[in-house]
Amino acid sequence: MKKIAVNKQFKEDWNRVLNHIANLFYEDSKIVVTADDADLSFYFDYTINADYSIHTESRLEVDGQIFTSHYSIQYETEGTEREQAIRIKRALSHVMLDVLEQYTGMTQQWGILTGVRPTKLYHNYRKQGLNDEEIFEVLKTDFRISDSKISLMREIVKRQLQTIPDLDDIGKEISIYIGVPFCPTKCAYCTFPAYAIQSNRKAGRVESFIDGLHIEIREMGKWLKENNMNITSVYWGGGTPTSIEADEMDALYKTMFESFPNPENIREITVEAGRPDTITPEKIEVLKKWGIDRISVNPQSYTDETLKAIGRHHTVQETIDKFWLSRNSGMNNINMDLIIGLPNEGIEEFQHSLDESEKMQPESLTVHTLSFKRASEMTHNKEKYKVADRETVTKMMEMASEWTAKNGYVPYYLYRQKNILGNLENVGYSKPGEESIYNILIMEEVQTILGIGCGASTKFVNPETGKITQFHNPKDPAAYIMTFEDAIEKKIEMLNDLYLSDSKTAVQE
Ligand code: SF4
Repeated sequence: MKKIAVNKQFKEDWNRVLNHIANLFYEDSKIVVTADDADLSFYFDYTINADYSIHTESRLEVDGQIFTSHYSIQYETEGTEREQAIRIKRALSHVMLDVLEQYTGMTQQWGILTGVRPTKLYHNYRKQGLNDEEIFEVLKTDFRISDSKISLMREIVKRQLQTIPDLDDIGKEISIYIGVPFCPTKCAYCTFPAYAIQSNRKAGRVESFIDGLHIEIREMGKWLKENNMNITSVYWGGGTPTSIEADEMDALYKTMFESFPNPENIREITVEAGRPDTITPEKIEVLKKWGIDRISVNPQSYTDETLKAIGRHHTVQETIDKFWLSRNSGMNNINMDLIIGLPNEGIEEFQHSLDESEKMQPESLTVHTLSFKRASEMTHNKEKYKVADRETVTKMMEMASEWTAKNGYVPYYLYRQKNILGNLENVGYSKPGEESIYNILIMEEVQTILGIGCGASTKFVNPETGKITQFHNPKDPAAYIMTFEDAIEKKIEMLNDLYLSDSKTAVQE
């Protein structure tokens, strides 16, 4: 733990932002008021001038060395109190990042950008009427983002607009996420709602959950039909939605196609078949019967020892066999996920994963960087898992980028997470024309994603203002079985409020 001392006012008012910047450089840091035993001592100051400019400065004293930074920015208006707070926060982030870069010799490719999805920010500036050059300038000077990351953002935004030409107008439609919370076993890095299917089957919870899911699909479909909503995309996730039996999948897809309005207009349906050990010829036949476009078969790694260490309980050979089974049975839009920085993996193992991927050429490849999420087994027992250092992780990201370009893939979405190794990003690559519509929609938050089933979150996006409200279905199957009817009622109420102005008036009255 790095103890970072700052002058009093700054800890009280700006603790969160200063801590965030410090965490870009140190795995674990804590901001304290000036203390003798601090590892680093900062002094900050700022002034707001009559011409609406803000000036900030910082000084870092460490090991007898002094590093300083100044930053000034001019605004055209005084701004509200809230806007002023954001401006100060940004200006302080600049000077803190600058001195830490000087002291550590590290460069933060994403600059001070925190808490905002990079490409969503790019789209926002685009919608405000800025051209690519103007956006480049803002991202570089206001956020200190590197040229290469800005280029990546630009390329992704362009690709997204090609995939969904009506992206700016898609808010009038809706997408659906359906969560099936079962997996054969729980992976060590997992924080998704994933419960061991066998024990839940014995306890009767799988059947009860599926009964509830049929009802929820029907009820939500009824509302969508009655209100003439078009569905853009549907995503079956979880857990692993192919953990259940083929006849159970078949019955659920039947309910979906019967209940949803104009299913022929749905642009994409994805089913996560993430765990290869759940894929069988019968289940593939069911997917084909319903014309499901897109599946995921996720290797994560092509090293058996790694799969064992992270509790995947399937072999590399099984991933390869199930990929070819799917491919040879006519599945022609297959996504595969790889994770950079899994325990004991370095350049060699990752190169091996890329070499194996090369033989299969899936339509899309999502490259995740391992993140230590608070609730995972891996985070709780961090010392048990030896992971690559920042430099190696960065190198592996570069390898992924070079490999995908060489194999004809293009990046089409990206996201960043907290506690992600090396403060890097996750990037979704695809062969041109095979981009996942759902992935773009969920990243850019441009339309409501209605969550159905266990652990499914609904993000209601106001089509006019873009304001987001959330609702979470229960994560645990036992809780879902008890409360799904309440969840249906609440979501219908929220949908009415958002899309039906008459009902809004009625509620207000
Ligand atoms: S397969 Fe996916 S959802 Fe299931 S336990 Fe592993 S990471 Fe979690």
